[in-house]
Amino acid sequence: MYEKLMDKTIQCDLCGEKNPEGEIYKSDDMIYLCPECLRKIEAVPQSVRESMERFLLGNVL
Ligand SMILES: [Zn+2]
Repeated sequence: MYEKLMDKTIQCDLCGEKNPEGEIYKSDDMIYLCPECLRKIEAVPQSVRESMERFLLGNVL
């Protein structure tokens, strides 16, 4: 589940970019994704998505 936020100071955990409009999506696990990466992550199968999220969480912690 991703919650849409508007915050120009938050960067995407996947690509490291900040959306110019400040559009960012926060997951329950506190992963932040730009709209582009959210589309990518939603396009992959659930199992792949979960391992990507685990990988991102590993980077954050
Ligand atoms: Zn991104």
